[in-house]
Amino acid sequence: MFRALVVEKDAAGATRAVVRELEDSCLPEGEVTVAVEYSTLNYKDGLCLGAGGGLVKVWPHVPGIDFAGRVESSADPRFQPGDRVVLTGWRVGEIRWGGYATKARVKADWLVKLPETLTTRAAMAVGTAGLTAMLAVMALEDHGLVPASGEVLVTGAAGGVGSVATAILAARGYRVAAVTGRPETADYLRGLGAARIVPREDLAETVKRPLESETWAGCVDAVGGAMLARILGQMAYGASVAAVGLAGGAALPATVVPFILRGVNLLGIDSVMRPLPDRVRAWARIATELPMDKLEAMVRPATLADLPALGEAILKGGVQGRVVVDVT
Ligand code: NDP
Repeated sequence: MFRALVVEKDAAGATRAVVRELEDSCLPEGEVTVAVEYSTLNYKDGLCLGAGGGLVKVWPHVPGIDFAGRVESSADPRFQPGDRVVLTGWRVGEIRWGGYATKARVKADWLVKLPETLTTRAAMAVGTAGLTAMLAVMALEDHGLVPASGEVLVTGAAGGVGSVATAILAARGYRVAAVTGRPETADYLRGLGAARIVPREDLAETVKRPLESETWAGCVDAVGGAMLARILGQMAYGASVAAVGLAGGAALPATVVPFILRGVNLLGIDSVMRPLPDRVRAWARIATELPMDKLEAMVRPATLADLPALGEAILKGGVQGRVVVDVT
């Protein structure tokens, strides 16, 4: 038997999430069974937990797009019982059963062995959001960003991706400007290493002039929409924006002028289908470069039973930092 937060759909089409004991025979197919220790909460989890079930196609469903734990059994020679592993992406928790359970069964190809120094709890304090933040920083640096380049903007800074991006960049010596719509998070963001707080409303207006002063040497953008369009016109010559999310909208009401007159780069960051070598490289860098005290400052502990309410909160932009779910 194992315990899981199950989203069920009734005959009227309404969904609700309840904690249930399930037989192991309910687990999906896969080569590796993992005793899950921690999971976390992402925007996508909020969608899958909420009314209508979001990205879920088949009910009952176990959400949780990421988890960390120990291998319980494995039919794949790359994994042995006891190995500490992390899973993010591959649409686990969306179209396949995910991490809001004490057991998960998945394909061996989807798992990454955790670096020695990273606990399963720390791995979920990082989670998909933190992995994506690191992939964004790697992309910016692969395109020439160094601390001497100038100020780096992080949008949605008090959220999951933004918090980890702020901490990683600050720890690497970058001067970080953190955009937030929640002024009350200023001390938290400064604690993560932000040198400057930019109120969301400063970037809220739609593009009036395609080019403004060259202000940012790089940007990790979790917001998208009109804010991203505005930021493109404020990037320094040749600078890059790593586009990670759409918390502020999927439309991009921009012009091509920043690309063709300033050589600005818009780099797409996907963590879900990301090939394994990049994941291994990113987790190794997280283990060595993300200050663990800063990570701990972002953590809000939770249990499976807390998740329905937290799911609602993240959809409203009301979660600060990283929720770590102890599933045991
Ligand atoms: P969070 O909800 O934790 O953070 C999002 C933050 O965006 C909020 O905390 C808020 O920050 C800001 N925000 C919310 N609504 C608005 C708005 N209308 N306008 C401007 N800012 C807003 O989510 P995550 O950090 O986990 O994820 C951020 C985005 O990245 C999501 O869209 C998510 O789907 C995406 N994502 C993409 C991945 C990929 O592989 N590309 C992987 C993981 C996430 P503040 O309060 O500081 O203003």
